[in-house]
Amino acid sequence: MSSPLPTEIRRLPEDKRLRITWSDGHVAEYEYDFLRGYCPCAGCQGHSVAEVRYQPPSVSVTATKIEPVGNYAISILWSDSHATGIYRFDFLREICPCDPCRAARKSGESPN
Ligand SMILES: [Zn+2]
Ligand SMILES: [Zn+2]
Repeated sequence: MSSPLPTEIRRLPEDKRLRITWSDGHVAEYEYDFLRGYCPCAGCQGHSVAEVRYQPPSVSVTATKIEPVGNYAISILWSDSHATGIYRFDFLREICPCDPCRAARKSGESPN
């Protein structure tokens, strides 16, 4: 099974959100602070983590710039000048905050 890819990545400045439309028709909206908190870089996550965890951002941010990384990820320049996070598409899909995805994750995972 190949994983879905974004067909459109769009910034919604009024809502401080990023909207991704996926190739399977799913639409995901991520609040900037949510994405910033999930920054997967070593500086935010530490070097030895197996799983990216939500680290609440110290300031509220907006996405200043979004750039493609190869054909598998995007990098985001945040308004707090942080830009080292590479957000892989499969990771973005994994953390999709919509209700159906949350519910699916909850039932598929043991709580810890
Ligand atoms: Zn980071
Ligand atoms: Zn979703």
